[in-house]
Amino acid sequence: MTQTTTHADNIIDAGWIIPVNASKEILSNHSLVIQHGHLIALLPTAEVDKHYHSDKRYSLQDHLLIPGLINAHGHAAMTLFRGLADDLPLMTWLQDHIWPAEAQWVNEEFVQDGTQLAMLEMLRCGTTTFSDMYFFPDVAARAAHDARMRCQISFPVLDFPTAWARDADDYIHKGLELIDDFGSQQLINIAFGPHAPYTVSDAPLQRIVTLSEELDCPVQIHLHETAQELRDAFLADRRRPIQRLHDLGLLGPRLQCVHMTQLDDRDIQLMRQNNAHVVHCPNSNLKLASGFCPVGRLHGAGVNVALGTDGAASNNRLDMLGEMRNAALLAKAISNDASAIDAHSALEMATINGAKALGIDAYTGSLEIGKAADIAAINLSAIESQPLYNPLSQLVYATDPSQVSHVWVNGELLLEDRKTLTLDSTRIISRARNWAELIKDSQ
Ligand SMILES: [Zn+2]
Repeated sequence: MTQTTTHADNIIDAGWIIPVNASKEILSNHSLVIQHGHLIALLPTAEVDKHYHSDKRYSLQDHLLIPGLINAHGHAAMTLFRGLADDLPLMTWLQDHIWPAEAQWVNEEFVQDGTQLAMLEMLRCGTTTFSDMYFFPDVAARAAHDARMRCQISFPVLDFPTAWARDADDYIHKGLELIDDFGSQQLINIAFGPHAPYTVSDAPLQRIVTLSEELDCPVQIHLHETAQELRDAFLADRRRPIQRLHDLGLLGPRLQCVHMTQLDDRDIQLMRQNNAHVVHCPNSNLKLASGFCPVGRLHGAGVNVALGTDGAASNNRLDMLGEMRNAALLAKAISNDASAIDAHSALEMATINGAKALGIDAYTGSLEIGKAADIAAINLSAIESQPLYNPLSQLVYATDPSQVSHVWVNGELLLEDRKTLTLDSTRIISRARNWAELIKDSQ
């Protein structure tokens, strides 16, 4: 008797799969079955033929499949400033180097080229979703749409003029147009991106509270990044910035607080009570000597902590594997506890926690039936992964980005054997070199 099998768009057979589910499973010799961009089955490879057939079947026996990594904070176009100014504290770096360079160079073309360079790097590090906060967010959204990556575009809001907008009202007005233009796109979410408490005054923050509730839009803000930020805020109005945001009504489940290196027990309690999210950027905080986010304490208190690279100008990489490893190592060091943030918790921070922070965990962040097929494949036959006792340990503590071989977003293959299929790397690198020549000559 012949048994009929279901046709699938793709089947991926893998040596190992870590789905990032509640039972923290590590599966050997399992397969993912994909239909219309979604995962329709996760089962032992030996059983696939009984149920499914496909013209496109990938045999990745040396590979580990994980949910695509989620870079929950960055400034993609700033990749063109990578290595322009190093070894400086945050405010000197911003005021004397980054802001003047932005005033001179940032335009639509810069954002297009810089965002493409960032996406090229992120895909090759296993990232499938990124959050961006930069000028000309419409250009970044279009670039992400064309590359078919998943993203959150947080349009910036500032009190002062930049090349993109005149004042806070103008930023918000342009942001609302962006929601009209891209809000219905499957892979793109639009968020409000008030830059920081020290660059946005109360009136625009209050408008953002109202509008984000009305439109059910997330809000991302740099918060408690340095001790100086807290000293200045306290001198200005005797409040910690997080308290000010709470008084304004901004602290809630839609709020993504980036950095959070300066936190006392009351701050952590406020975050927990209001279900606000933290986006931890360990390498950027280390490089700018901004401080240490108390990830172990936040985790213990039940606050959701996601991970981000921040911009390549202050990192200087967009490598979420590196962020994951350093997040785990730093959490252990600052809590003086080697068991703080174990390997699976670090992977959760780079995947499902990012999806929760961005409000997209219903359809990405883990490899579970019904979710989108956002997948990264990592080759564990590399020398750096030998010998292989535990694929999770190798992934978090020993994997190099060069081991990322394939990436799918929404079921579409975007990276195959480390080659990007929707981004022209030769052209993008040549454009980046042209920008560097121009910018270098003006320094
Ligand atoms: Zn940032």
